[in-house]
Amino acid sequence: MSTKENSFKKSSLMNILWDIQKKRRCISRDDMTKISKAFNISRIELEGVISFYHFYHLKHAGKYTIYLNNSIISKYKDFYRVKKAFEKEIGIKTGHVTKDGLFGLFETSCIGLSDQETSALINFNAFTNLTPEKVKTLISKLRQGESLESLSNFPENNIQYTPEENKTVFFKPYHQGNALKKIIGIEPDSVIDLIKASKLSGRGGAFFPTGLKWQFCRDNKSDQKYIICNADEGEPGTFKDRVLMNEHPGLLIEGMTIAGYAVGATEGTIYLRAEYFYLKNKLEKTIKKFLEKGLLGKNILGIEGFDFNLNIHMGAGAYVCGEETALIASMEGKRGEPTTKEFFPVEKGYLGKPTVVNNVETLCAAARILEMGLDNYLAIGTKATPGTKLMSVSGDCNKPGIYEIEWGMKLKYFLDLIEAKDPHFILFNGFSGECLSSQDFDREISGENLLAEHIQFQLNDPIEYARKMSAVGLRSGGAFMIFDKTRDLLPILKNITDFFVAESCGICVPCRTGNFLLNKKLHKIKLCHADKNDLEEIKEWCSIIKQSSRCGLGKTSTNCLLTAMLKFPEEFNKCLLAESDINQAFNLEKAVDNYDKIINEIETTYE
Ligand code: SF4
Repeated sequence: MSTKENSFKKSSLMNILWDIQKKRRCISRDDMTKISKAFNISRIELEGVISFYHFYHLKHAGKYTIYLNNSIISKYKDFYRVKKAFEKEIGIKTGHVTKDGLFGLFETSCIGLSDQETSALINFNAFTNLTPEKVKTLISKLRQGESLESLSNFPENNIQYTPEENKTVFFKPYHQGNALKKIIGIEPDSVIDLIKASKLSGRGGAFFPTGLKWQFCRDNKSDQKYIICNADEGEPGTFKDRVLMNEHPGLLIEGMTIAGYAVGATEGTIYLRAEYFYLKNKLEKTIKKFLEKGLLGKNILGIEGFDFNLNIHMGAGAYVCGEETALIASMEGKRGEPTTKEFFPVEKGYLGKPTVVNNVETLCAAARILEMGLDNYLAIGTKATPGTKLMSVSGDCNKPGIYEIEWGMKLKYFLDLIEAKDPHFILFNGFSGECLSSQDFDREISGENLLAEHIQFQLNDPIEYARKMSAVGLRSGGAFMIFDKTRDLLPILKNITDFFVAESCGICVPCRTGNFLLNKKLHKIKLCHADKNDLEEIKEWCSIIKQSSRCGLGKTSTNCLLTAMLKFPEEFNKCLLAESDINQAFNLEKAVDNYDKIINEIETTYE
């Protein structure tokens, strides 16, 4: 047998890297030599994969590896004091490991716990609502040898609101197998027709019609097809999938199995973000129970030939892997870089086979639609967006947490529900969504009257923009970060560009360089060194980034900045240099004119 045939499947690479890192707290040079031989890949390729993900370490990261969440919401809670407390108790600065190798202290971006900040992960166990006092006790107990698991606090589900029971889709009691049993006697094509008729669309934020996606996959003939659940919930401020998986893991499994039945797939994978490692055990136990009850595996529900198996693939910290082609590349053991859309995953996806990638909420909704029946589902929500939506609420309000609301609720009523305190601006749909102001409070949360030019039109005419937008629904992937009048907009926008600079995979120039330049411009504005031309340049660059980036990360990275400039021009203008501060007499060309002459003379002399 050749070496190639002997080698491990690359799709198992990431899980193996995790196993090694868990044992040794890093992936050493020796490990890399062995892995590259076992997988028959070069060291350079392997290093490329390892270095792509935030959570793989080439150096020892401490027996206890602490990742403190530095998201905006965390910073507005107790981040700075908690960070100081960790540094003091452990005796090192952030980004280092103690000499005895006991503790490693690092920062990381949003870990999906925005409703329970300040939070941290220690060896991927969650610690929420941290205070300096809690940190002191925690470190002391770890030093005394208490187990990490006994000290960690499993995150609260924190479900704050659901509609009355006949209008609830997600957070009503779950009964194992109820949704799945509905497919008995229904042909796969009819399941797809049902999902199409429900108008269910991708709840991760892209809103592609789910039934159509399933149809495309079904129409592609292949010996193997895959269903992938995108549980890489990385959008800052979003945590509804965490709660859904914790509350109803079985509902997700049923949704995936129904999707498998509809498109003809026999294999499914949950791509779980590393930040949610603590959910893995629960998901695995639920899968086991399904297998025992004949609700997964071979001839499910006694239907001859209805086979479906499930496994879990752990991410390793890369926001861009929420993009479906990047996620597939990651599952194949590669760097999680988005591909050009020569083929869609439903044509050639995971391992080159037709693949459906759906978000957790989408798959759970599909299961509920079968369970509750189409008419009951269509009776909830609005015409364009039937059903309910899960919202992850964090920031300046009395009731952060998870809300299941009927599509169509006006924003101002939602603000009442969450008990928003003196709302100033909202990041709606996370860092890749819109910045909302009081102009938007009359808009409804729905997919009604959407405009193709949603974000960019009428940038120079705020009044016309507000008039048009008042009739346009607000569709959200689920993040709702609210800020009151004590918060400054500019540092938050700067934080957003910091995030995109760090998370851009770097493969295309507009996204990589554009976000870097925007970051520098915002810094300049913050220092009050900018003038009107800088604002014009920002708009131009935003437009270039939006139009020419390869994937959704780049295309949406400037949405918040653009809408903030439109709705809060005074926040920018107050930082600009006054005309009188600019030396109008200074002319760069004239200033260097003399040097040009000297250089010309020198060149002529030596010709
Ligand atoms: Fe990578 Fe950004 Fe290009 Fe997407 S847009 S492929 S994240 S560089």
